[in-house]
Amino acid sequence: MPTDTTTSAPQQLRNFYAGDWHAGADAGMDVVDPATAQVYTHAPLSRQAEVDAAYSAAAKAFDTWGHTTPAERQLALLKIADTLEARADEFVAAESRNTGKPLGLTASEELPPAVDQLRFFAGAARVLEGKSAGEYMAGFTSYTRREPIGVVGQVTPWNYPLMMAIWKIAPALAAGNTVVLKPAETTPETTLLLAELAAEFLPEGTFNVVTGDRETGAMVVSHPAAKLVSITGSVRAGMQVAQAAAADLKRVHLELGGKAPVLVFDDADVVAAAAAITEAGYFNAGQDCTAATRVLAAPGVHDELVAALAEQARGTVTGPPSDPDAAYGPLNSAAQLEKVSGFVDRLPDNASVEAGGSRPDGPGFFYSPTVVSGLRSGDEAVTDEIFGPVITVQKMVEGSAGSSAEEVEAQAIRQANDTRYGLASSVWTADHGRALRVSNALNFGCVWINTHIPLVAEMPHGGFGHSGYGKDLSMYSLEDYTRVKHVMSAL
Ligand code: NAD
Repeated sequence: MPTDTTTSAPQQLRNFYAGDWHAGADAGMDVVDPATAQVYTHAPLSRQAEVDAAYSAAAKAFDTWGHTTPAERQLALLKIADTLEARADEFVAAESRNTGKPLGLTASEELPPAVDQLRFFAGAARVLEGKSAGEYMAGFTSYTRREPIGVVGQVTPWNYPLMMAIWKIAPALAAGNTVVLKPAETTPETTLLLAELAAEFLPEGTFNVVTGDRETGAMVVSHPAAKLVSITGSVRAGMQVAQAAAADLKRVHLELGGKAPVLVFDDADVVAAAAAITEAGYFNAGQDCTAATRVLAAPGVHDELVAALAEQARGTVTGPPSDPDAAYGPLNSAAQLEKVSGFVDRLPDNASVEAGGSRPDGPGFFYSPTVVSGLRSGDEAVTDEIFGPVITVQKMVEGSAGSSAEEVEAQAIRQANDTRYGLASSVWTADHGRALRVSNALNFGCVWINTHIPLVAEMPHGGFGHSGYGKDLSMYSLEDYTRVKHVMSAL
């Protein structure tokens, strides 16, 4: 639990670009504490002049940062990581205030991985390499170079504001690019703090932050100085970013959410699965693009699993950041609360709410841990990303207890893949062969076996289909932020 939970809220946030704070021409965005629904500060609603100024700083900085050695970039990122770690309490307090996340979980589950991810990319900067060099034609030598792309425009979401900023900037900076980043309108605070912290170790203008709304985001991704644009957010936003980028063929990097299927077979450890699904379904109030929310249960374990999940849901506490028992806090905004409760309010007659399905009394955007059974594959609670603490459970094979194990497996794979998303999934079974067969057949960028949700910096995070393209984390992400050049020389 962090000790410095009393860091006072700033009265007014400012943009950070060109190495300094800048008041916006318009201070106009309310920033709300979602645990109380009270406005606690304001942030600039940046417009073209501010976006231009940030890009001009980033373009200038690229002349310096783009020519640093990998060792210099590594050292800068390590210093940023060390300083973030040393100031963790301050960042935890600000992140919890701006998102309503539990203080203890933010300190244990978000800050340490964020620091570790920065350190991973610091090291990765040193090992980026061209894949081949040699004489592929008589009399000539060829080699490939990995080069930074230039200035990168990035847009982040509100579910993990600090961590998403780090997933975006760390590979971009490690590869030698400079950045203009727009955080989500509701959660600008820690990204601005990060920019100021990082500025001590980076040439002026290397990492710039402008706050604002979707319109500001559109200005960031359509700016002519950006050579690559990257967004984590909704499918709608991703499509708009890809369309904007098409106008001058910018490179695009998209992480657009998911609807993770969780396949629980008859031979799975149901108790362990229920505990893990509860944790991975309600973590961060279910506002996680890999959340374990679409459970597909084999006929033999369906009823037991529904009962276990409902019991776990009833034992799961939601509360304000200071509540040490809270597994999760409020939803991010009044709009997100409306969206989540709307899904439950519109449930069809075939659905049954096994636990939750309501808003607790009191202020803030809280929603109770919810389990819904009886849904059919086409129901919107199954097809659409709810992004809230709602777990749905369906039978792998509806109404046919006599199906063979092979039929159940084949049907489960079809059902799991019957989605426009393709980010994450998990399979629960004691049969090693089945675990591997099903993993091979699932159309998702990540498959977990007998677990759900852990991430490591070394492994890629990114989806297929409408979940987008491009990878976060890992060497794949670093490569995404580079361009490949072939140099050929006559001998
Ligand atoms: P959103 O996609 O509108 O917002 C995410 C970020 O994108 C914000 O910074 C926003 O200002 C920016 N943005 C939106 N439209 C843009 C555009 N055309 N050009 C540039 N930037 C743009 O998300 P939302 O409306 O806040 O949330 C809606 C749903 O999106 C959620 O319920 C959830 O399903 C999904 N979502 C997914 C993730 C994820 O991790 N993939 C994160 C947040 C939201």
